[in-house]
Amino acid sequence: MTTEPLQIISLGAGVQSSTMALMAAAGEILPMPSAAIFADTQDEPAGVYKWLDWLEPRLPFPVHRVTAGKLSEKALQVKISKDGRRYTQTSIPYFTKELTTGLQGKIRYRICTADFKLAPLMKKARELAAVKRGEKTVRVIQWIGISLDEVQRMKTSRDKWAANRWPLIEKEMRRNDCLNWMKARGFPEPPRSACVYCPYHSNSEWRRLRDNEPAEFEKAVQFEKAVQREKFHSHNFNSTPFLHRSCVPLDQVDLSTDTERGQGLLAGFNAECSGMCGV
Ligand code: SF4
Repeated sequence: MTTEPLQIISLGAGVQSSTMALMAAAGEILPMPSAAIFADTQDEPAGVYKWLDWLEPRLPFPVHRVTAGKLSEKALQVKISKDGRRYTQTSIPYFTKELTTGLQGKIRYRICTADFKLAPLMKKARELAAVKRGEKTVRVIQWIGISLDEVQRMKTSRDKWAANRWPLIEKEMRRNDCLNWMKARGFPEPPRSACVYCPYHSNSEWRRLRDNEPAEFEKAVQFEKAVQREKFHSHNFNSTPFLHRSCVPLDQVDLSTDTERGQGLLAGFNAECSGMCGV
């Protein structure tokens, strides 16, 4: 007997994935999903959790909140190798400045996305669809909230038992169309979802955080200081990590200019952590 694959929304709780979930709830994207999954790094700004509390009761399907732990704590956990070297394992895409040469760079690998977004999300999807080990048929259709202005982020699923679907692309919707859709229905504007300290923030996002959610901005400032302390004593790091591309401490950066295309590879595309961490 063949069963239909489960339709599951990968909910980042930002603009795009929230609009997609509400459109599904309104019957504008078919079929009705069985569930949505929100992978929580436990470091989103308070506004995102408040938004989720608003969103959840408006959806006719359950929202599963899953987590692989608190990313900021794991990123600071120092391990000791067998030969006594100190190192930290979890990598966030920091900007870096070499200790000896002052050369600036960037960490390319987003282990945070893989471990704290993708892994818990796929684990839950697997559980919901009762996917067996070695399953080769598609058991889950995963809805990803990528809009037309972010097509370059579309990727096929790495798991044989899952296939990705991009309903907003099917509807040729851009981020602004999502905002307009929400507005037309009298819904509030969803927040931008990403960890408070995400190095992919544009200057305008840093400013928004600093001016509207100062406690969250302060968390990012303190996190940067803590990471710099830990990395300084680690053997697998010879550069100082920074959250801003200028490699200036966050509380001293001039955020008055807009660097929408400059802060990170994808920041110029209004990227968000759309369930699988789209930033
Ligand atoms: S929002 Fe940024 S820091 Fe958080 S998981 Fe995604 S890439 Fe990593």
